[in-house]
Amino acid sequence: TRSIADIMRDRDRLLGPGVSTFYDDPVHIVRGEGVWLWDAEGRKYLDCYNNVPVVGHCNPRVVEAICRQAGTLNTHTRYLHEGILDYVDKLTGTMDASLEAAAMTCTGSEANDIALRMAEGMTGKRGIVATDATYHGNTALVSQLGRSNPPSVGFGLGQYFRFVEAPDSYRRPDPDGQTFAAAVETEIAAHEAEGHGFAALVICPYFLNEGFPQNADGWLKPVAEVVRRAGGLLICDEVQSGFGRTGTHMWAHQKMGVVPDIVTMGKPMGNGHPVGGVVTRAEILGTFRRGYRYFNTFGGNPVSCAAAMAVLKEIEDKDLVAHAGRVGEHARQRLFALLDKYEVIGDVRGSGLIFGAEMVLDREDKTPATEFTDRVINAMRHRGIIHSKLGRHKNTLKIRPPLPFSIENADLLFDTLDEVLAETSVHA
Ligand code: PMP
Repeated sequence: TRSIADIMRDRDRLLGPGVSTFYDDPVHIVRGEGVWLWDAEGRKYLDCYNNVPVVGHCNPRVVEAICRQAGTLNTHTRYLHEGILDYVDKLTGTMDASLEAAAMTCTGSEANDIALRMAEGMTGKRGIVATDATYHGNTALVSQLGRSNPPSVGFGLGQYFRFVEAPDSYRRPDPDGQTFAAAVETEIAAHEAEGHGFAALVICPYFLNEGFPQNADGWLKPVAEVVRRAGGLLICDEVQSGFGRTGTHMWAHQKMGVVPDIVTMGKPMGNGHPVGGVVTRAEILGTFRRGYRYFNTFGGNPVSCAAAMAVLKEIEDKDLVAHAGRVGEHARQRLFALLDKYEVIGDVRGSGLIFGAEMVLDREDKTPATEFTDRVINAMRHRGIIHSKLGRHKNTLKIRPPLPFSIENADLLFDTLDEVLAETSVHA
């Protein structure tokens, strides 16, 4: 086994410099089981970060399904195979009846890229509206969604994108979603004025990359009405928020009270096996397939479908959505107790097994405690708990464990966080 220093050197040499390591003192993980990870020295970590192994690291049912299918047949998707039909049938069964067909992909980026092209095909327009601090993927097209890349790169495709400020329930409350809807309406009008027309609004319905503001259930209804009135499509990117994460519904758009025209997904879908998808109405998929030559060699291959089917069955059989809701509620209570105890916690938020707290230097002016948040994350890692941070100011603890996370796991997390908050000084 290479030392950490050797791994870091070889990463720079072989993968190019600047690949993020997550920690000042990186962890070399070699094994996972359930909610636990082990490093090369045999140290055990509680994984509170990872939404990919949604039904637990190396879930036996998923491992068995992958091995069985890999030992029977795996090939590209031109051959007829029933696994993809069984899977899409089961997947679409978790959504509104209008969302009845799917294109299978290998990643979330690809799913979003295809969704935008579907919107172009369906509406004949190109103008897209998105939130400004989001992430929707890495293709030339979707890497332009969000302001982190200048519009001049990515073949200049950014000219078709306009941005609204992401909601922020802590600093700019918008309880009924009307302010957000009005901002989207303004950008739609700007697209019309520029001659692009309006094709779609693309959003994560729980705004996970943006710090998951605490909006009421049903919050997206006003913006969905604006989108429909303007003749565009509503694309919900459920790459992070889907598969029961919020603990109330299988999909966050259901919690937010809307039926999208297109839903994209990835990350947890195969529990780590690469698989993604775009679920939509048959009419939209039909229009897309007539207008574009679309083929995907690996998307929906037999092994991907076997893995993804095992994930859905595991969520269903173990009632993991309700479980996420119960454990998430306990976690929120523990976070509120820490809010009472530590001034540095400005706000607590979350639903199900996505929860966190925003760290501030001052509760009055809400100055982000960004460096403090980094110190907390590193101290937690040294006590064997892995989690991350996110949000516009990178000062919100992001806790997003595999769904089998238990009350006991949550107690270990919060007992440790309590110790770390007591020991870490707010000013370095
Ligand atoms: N959408 C969202 C909301 C994401 O968080 C991500 C990945 N972080 C993607 C899309 C892209 O998915 P992938 O990395 O599988 O291409």
